[in-house]
Formats: sequence, C-alpha cells, structure tokens
Amino acid sequence: MRTIYGVFGDPIAHSLSPEIHNAAFSKLGMDCTYHAFRVCKDKLKEALYGAKAMGFGGVNLTVPLKQQALEIVDADPIAKAIGAVNTVDFKEGMKGYNTDGLGAKCALEDKGVRINGSRVLIIGAGGAARAIAFQLATDGADITVANRTEQKAFSLALELSRVRPAKGCGLKDLEELIVSSDILVNCTTMGMYPDKGKTTAFSEQMHSDLTVFDIVYNPLETMLLKEAKKAGAKTITGEMMLVYQGAEAFRIWTGTKPPVDIMRKALLEGLNI
Ligand code: NAP
Repeated sequence: MRTIYGVFGDPIAHSLSPEIHNAAFSKLGMDCTYHAFRVCKDKLKEALYGAKAMGFGGVNLTVPLKQQALEIVDADPIAKAIGAVNTVDFKEGMKGYNTDGLGAKCALEDKGVRINGSRVLIIGAGGAARAIAFQLATDGADITVANRTEQKAFSLALELSRVRPAKGCGLKDLEELIVSSDILVNCTTMGMYPDKGKTTAFSEQMHSDLTVFDIVYNPLETMLLKEAKKAGAKTITGEMMLVYQGAEAFRIWTGTKPPVDIMRKALLEGLNI
C-alpha cells in the first residue's frame, strides 16, 4: 500500500516540501506520496496521533508547530537542545528530530568545508541561527554568535556552552570577528527579498580564506555573497540548506539515500529561480 508523508503547519499553502519529496519518491520509483496539511497549534497532538494511526510514514513540522511538538514526541538530544522539532518518524513510537541544522552542516560539507575545529561566526540569533549553532557546536566547531540585539546573542551563547564554549556579542566589531573566523553564516533576514540591497558584511571586512554561507535563498546570490566573491572567499547559497534538511528527513523516514540533485531541481522550479 502507498505510504503517505506530509508537512503540518499553519499557514501551509506556500510550502515547497511536497514538490521536493514527491520528486525524490518519483525518481526512486517508491510507492509513496507527500502532502501539505493545515494543522493549527491546538490540534497538533490529535493530528500526529491520527497520522500515526493511519499508517503515515512520517511528517515534517513547520511554523507554528516546531516548539510545541517537543511536548508530544520523543525528541532526540539535538532537537531538545535546539528547542524545536521539524521531522517526526513513526517507525517506532513517535521520534522527533531537527534537520534544519543538519541541512546547514550538509551544505557546508558538500562544498568540502571542515566543521570540526573551525571558527564559525553566526550572524543572527533567531530560530535558524539556533538550529545551526547547536548542530555545528555538536560537530566540534567553535561558535561566536553576533546579533543586532546583543542580549539574544549572549543568551544563545550561554545555552550553547552546555555543548561547547561559545561567545555572544553585538555587531559593532564585525570586522575583527570576521578576521578571526573560518566560516561566516548569515542567519539574519538581511538581503532577503524585497531588501535585496542589504548585507551584513562588505568585501573589505572579509578575507580569501573565509567561507561565507548565506542561508537566505531568495535571491540565491545575495548582496553578502556578491561581497564575499569580491573578497575571494568561498560562497555557499541558501537553497542547499533547505534541500538537505528535506533530504535528511527523507533518509530518516526511508533509510534510503536521497536524490539530492533531483530535490534541488524541484525546489528551484518551485521557487521559480
Ligand atoms: P528569525 O527567528 O525571525 O530571526 C531573524 C534574525 O535576523 C534575528 O537575529 C534578527 O535580529 C536578525 N535581523 C533582522 N533584521 C535585521 C537587520 N536589519 N539587521 C541585523 N539583523 C537583523 O528568523 P529565522 O527563522 O531565524 O530566519 C532567518 C533567515 O533565514 C530568513 O531569511 C529565512 O528565510 C532564512 N532561513 C533559511 C533556511 C534555509 O533552509 N535556507 C531555513 C530557515 C530560515 P534581532 O534579534 O536583533 O531582531
């Protein structure tokens, strides 16, 4: 019988996860299908138990359900540390994972960037920064979090210190911070459509040994990445994190190697890029 997968969220109409996963199932000839379901916060528990009872293979969770899911599913240590679940697997009980940070890790490794022992400057301290910071700290990176609202950077760094010592600061000494970093990850909304002309850093502040990863994916080549190229730095575009977070969920559910190129193509078609 066909296995059903899905994404729960509210709103959900904009989600490109069905395109990404259905392209992968189709490529591999798997008898599976993936749909988007509008689920509001107070129905999450019923929806998860209902999906499990109906034999769903697994689900992704998006806004506003990721934090609340921690109270319902058996979350793995990284999802617990991040404080959010975006992937639920129904094979044994109801296991929760967070593949957002894994997506970023895979996007870096895909470009041959070493994480263990690297000095990573994360700009931003919101939801995405949190997922990436905990994942990369767990993988042995030395993390500095720099954020416009300094207090949020301090708080995140303090929490990260449970995994590995980390620093938190504001944005005023960005140049010095970049000089002593191997990897810069932009986790702010700066440079995102419609504010395409904005950047968190300029070429004069960067160096050629730096890897600059902008997780903003609309546009793909952000102002920050243009500046990074001018400085001779290695650049990584944001859609790869999105593709790999889906690919890791696919791997958790099916135990099958995900067709990442097909998933990326489906995403770019969906984004109309
Ligand atoms: P969020 O929780 O709302 O966090 C936004 C962050 O941006 C905060 O740290 C905020 O600083 C900072 N910020 C906003 N405007 C700024 C400005 N003008 N100058 C400096 N900092 C500013 O958002 P999020 O969910 O983490 O998402 C952040 C970005 O990542 C979005 O562009 C989103 O599309 C992208 N994203 C990409 C992926 C992917 O798979 N590629 C996944 C998730 C998110 P304050 O704390 O000072 O407000």
